[in-house]
Amino acid sequence: MTTPHTPRTAVITGAGSPRGIGRATAHALAADGYHIAVVDLDKEAAEDTARHLAASHGVETLALAADVTDAAAVDAAIAQAEAALPPIGALVNNAGITSPVPFLDVTPGDWDRIFDVNVRGSFLVTHRVAAGMAERGFGRIVFLSSVSAERGGGVFGGVAYSAAKAALLGFARALARELGPSGVTANCVAPGLIDTDITRGKLDQDRKDAMTADIPMRRIGDVSDVADVIAFLARPGSGYITGATYDVNGGSHIH
Ligand code: NAD
Repeated sequence: MTTPHTPRTAVITGAGSPRGIGRATAHALAADGYHIAVVDLDKEAAEDTARHLAASHGVETLALAADVTDAAAVDAAIAQAEAALPPIGALVNNAGITSPVPFLDVTPGDWDRIFDVNVRGSFLVTHRVAAGMAERGFGRIVFLSSVSAERGGGVFGGVAYSAAKAALLGFARALARELGPSGVTANCVAPGLIDTDITRGKLDQDRKDAMTADIPMRRIGDVSDVADVIAFLARPGSGYITGATYDVNGGSHIH
């Protein structure tokens, strides 16, 4: 465990979901000494995460109900975090939605919805916090991409999801180049299939079994598998890693 030298806050979007990657990541970062701003569309879920974090790790927490696609809501949420918590040192762009709709059935509205949450949401929150990070000379930004971006779907998410998650790879890499001189790193984590509720029960057991048989580690990923890598990237000591993509997929895609 590396404790940040100065008190710092991590903003984690989509950290409400009880079985989600965001909540597990919030716990991992809190265990490393970060104070946590939990941002989620679901206010009660965000509050529940914040309560658990405070009770388990004794860090300062703040639950913020905000839609990451709404610029004004993002601005207000981050302003609240800045007023109530230590300076923001880390951002995890975790809020995301997926869709298995086959390409020929995708409507422009479906496409926009997937890009709005995954890409525009990551843009709005990153844009809002990055200036402060650069000014203070410290920042750790992590994006949740996906194995779907690398292998071209084939897990659950379709073309829109794969394209949106691929956009985040370019986003993080270009951002890493621009913000590196200011002490801010930007990296992607690309998980394979992880056991959460993002598929909303639409991935049946037979398909899961077939996929597991094809994964070298012979299991679906756990949220802690992903959270641990994000926590590593968020540490002060990880300051020489930027523009990288960390695969957390049990070997299901090796390249
Ligand atoms: P999840 O559905 O359990 O959690 C997502 C959270 O994001 C929810 O709490 C939801 O309320 C929140 N959210 C959704 N839209 C939002 C918005 N507009 N504004 C604010 N919050 C919003 O999902 P998860 O499986 O924990 O996934 C987390 C991230 O990891 C996503 O970006 C996802 O695409 C990515 N990912 C997941 C998997 C997987 O297999 N679970 C694999 C690869 C990548």
